[in-house]
Amino acid sequence: MSAANGKPSTIIDLRSDTVTVPTPEMWAAMAAAEVGDDVYGEDPTVNRLEARAAATFGREAALFMPTGTMGNQTAIRLHTRPGQEVVCEARAHIVDWEMAMVSAFSGCQLRTVAAQRGVLTWQHIKTALSPKIYYRAQTGLISLENTHNMAGGTVTPLEVLEEIWAGAKDAGLPVHLDGARVFNAAAALGVEVARLTRGFDSVMFCLSKGLSAPVGSLLVGSREFIDRARPVRKMLGGGMRQAGVLAAAGLIALEEMPKRLPEDHANARLLAERIADCKEVELDLEAVETNIVIFTLRGQGDAAALVARLKQRGVAASAVGPHAVRFVSHRNVDRAACEQAAQVAVEEMGKG
Ligand SMILES: *Cc1c(COP(=O)(O)O)cnc(C)c1O
Repeated sequence: MSAANGKPSTIIDLRSDTVTVPTPEMWAAMAAAEVGDDVYGEDPTVNRLEARAAATFGREAALFMPTGTMGNQTAIRLHTRPGQEVVCEARAHIVDWEMAMVSAFSGCQLRTVAAQRGVLTWQHIKTALSPKIYYRAQTGLISLENTHNMAGGTVTPLEVLEEIWAGAKDAGLPVHLDGARVFNAAAALGVEVARLTRGFDSVMFCLSKGLSAPVGSLLVGSREFIDRARPVRKMLGGGMRQAGVLAAAGLIALEEMPKRLPEDHANARLLAERIADCKEVELDLEAVETNIVIFTLRGQGDAAALVARLKQRGVAASAVGPHAVRFVSHRNVDRAACEQAAQVAVEEMGKG
């Protein structure tokens, strides 16, 4: 199951794009990385990665984070005060997968809004903003997710974002982007990430997902914001020392890997189309826009049981609900392997 020594395992692992292993170029860059103590600001490779990330997003500054969770939670802490609300989509990563840190660390509560395919619009958001009455907890932040993981890698288009940025500006509210997979969104839309994120006050994106770096995410924003983020990262234990070893791989992830994401998207499409043909399955093909395929088993079919049977046949997937299964395509599963995985899935579904 594991990818020992950085070699992809023989199992077709479609649980997540987090399982991608470094490319040969990344291994070489890591071995040769120039390093220093980054807590002292002296790691030249980390400094280069941060400068490169800031430039790619058209911002003043960026900060290397060990995880995306730390990036999101640092941003939320900086944008809010205890006792406020953070508006987000009902199945957002900050709701389900970040250990209630919005309450534990920032002292805020989440005000969630369910949106079709996970795509929040200004119409949704404005209904979730608190009225400006002294006895109501006030909205402190709007947080979006693009692509939206648990909605199946769905994409929020630029026009929808522009309306949200304008509405939030009028309301005097900051907007954060959980852009763990923002390069997938940019690839799907054919829009540069700088343009797709222009109106956000802060952006977090991951190097460790489809971009295939072993570890790391970045938080991007104004110089003033990033200067305030650095001590928060240190509070959370995220002050890393010779992190240039990781940043060296991250630079390749940032510069070289976005352009191959359409390949992952085409493979997800192939998986989705094959699986959607099964009568046992409910799958919204229009929602498959990037590298994630989520489908539901009809008639209360048992997702965990299907995932266990797939695993026995060498295909790893995730049960993401009692009746829901997720496949995520990525660099370490090629087209032939996706075809095989689809074949196995179709056969096993038939045995229901
Ligand atoms: C993976 C992911 C993150 C960050 O996860 P870490 O495991 O903490 O790096 C944040 N948001 C979304 C939508 C993700 O998929």
